[in-house]
Amino acid sequence: MRPLTSWMKQARSIIAPSQPECLFCGRRGRPSPEWPGICLHCQHGIPWIRIPRCQTCGRHVGCPDCSRSHGPLPIRCNRSAVAYTSEMREILGQYKYRGNERLAPLLGRMLDRAYALLQQEQSGQALNGAQPSNFFSEPRTLLQSMPHMQSNLWQADILVPVPVSAVRLSERGFNQAERMAEVVSLRRGIPQLPLLVRTQHTAKQSFKSRRERLADMKHAFAGNTDSAVLQSLKEHLNSRASHQLEQRPLRIIIVDDIYTTGSTIRACAGALQQLCRSLDCTAEIYSLTWARS
Ligand SMILES: [Zn+2]
Ligand SMILES: [Zn+2]
Repeated sequence: MRPLTSWMKQARSIIAPSQPECLFCGRRGRPSPEWPGICLHCQHGIPWIRIPRCQTCGRHVGCPDCSRSHGPLPIRCNRSAVAYTSEMREILGQYKYRGNERLAPLLGRMLDRAYALLQQEQSGQALNGAQPSNFFSEPRTLLQSMPHMQSNLWQADILVPVPVSAVRLSERGFNQAERMAEVVSLRRGIPQLPLLVRTQHTAKQSFKSRRERLADMKHAFAGNTDSAVLQSLKEHLNSRASHQLEQRPLRIIIVDDIYTTGSTIRACAGALQQLCRSLDCTAEIYSLTWARS
């Protein structure tokens, strides 16, 4: 005879089918309707960065980094989805170091939320310059202007994931930034192009000081000179010309999992600027990272 508890378990699973395991905490709590894969409890615990305190690097707390002496950031701004709390560190560790690839779509969607905020922010800036100041408070004006507004909505042109070294790639089996960028690329219809390559294998950055990281990273990236990649970029630039978009700079977003000191983004932006200059193209570079430490 089966023990009573087993019957009870079975009966309970018929009455209330068991919840899926949450990707964040591993428990079977009530699933979040908004963020598939995690439970409601974890959803409420996400430390979203809604309003960045530092407009440059998107940090949620006071930021000494952007005012240090090593020159301004070579990007327009960085925006991150979440603050890098110990909980978020644990999630990123599961994804990046323990190879839990099931997290990629969810983390990608979280990154996409940061994209939406960046888009809102940038569109607001562009519209405030071009539209009457009561533009947002007049619903009829807003409705009537919808097609116009749609076409004016700020949109990035290309997403460039931060490449990982061949050694890391073979260790992990995937590039964590590329997987996340893929989600944004599909949702927004922005092509993802591997415009950067890693020129050297740097030791794990997490064990280094800020100064060491900056020095280390300086020459760690270069523009990708692969002919197929350059061809895709040229085609993209030509299609911009046919849409008369060439008057404005090419908007490139560098995508990475985390922004810590900004040394990676700084180095990547430098390499991208160089690549764009060699193609006679003016670029405006942004970065989008899943977490901001
Ligand atoms: Zn959970
Ligand atoms: Zn800052």
